[in-house]
Amino acid sequence: MGRGGIVASPRDISNLSALLLIDEEEFTVRYTELSGGKTQIRTGDDGNCIFFVRDIGCAVHRAKPAVCRAWPFFRGNIVDPESLEQAKGFCPGISPFVSHADFAMQGRKYLSEHKLLASDPTCEANTLILS
Ligand code: SF4
Repeated sequence: MGRGGIVASPRDISNLSALLLIDEEEFTVRYTELSGGKTQIRTGDDGNCIFFVRDIGCAVHRAKPAVCRAWPFFRGNIVDPESLEQAKGFCPGISPFVSHADFAMQGRKYLSEHKLLASDPTCEANTLILS
């Protein structure tokens, strides 16, 4: 994903600063901004995430934030069948044949196994479901 609005939790910032070999304070100053009360990854002039490189993709793939790892298992898609149907329309990674029940079950399993469940909604993305 390349759009802005990517929430960076303290754990995300720890992972990203380690990848970039800088301390968390420097990472926060250089690459984040406060928006809607949460720390988000800065965007470039094109409105995309500052780590999005056209024709290449994510420059921080190995440490990308939880919200980037969680797609398509966002809370909306897991709790709302209509949201999932809409997502099927634009995301080729979602099988058009998957039932909402199966999608939700697979999503919760994936998020749990990859430690992508939210635990603190004050600093984590609203799109992540809570543990
Ligand atoms: S961190 Fe990577 S995957 Fe996430 S929005 Fe930025 S470029 Fe996309």
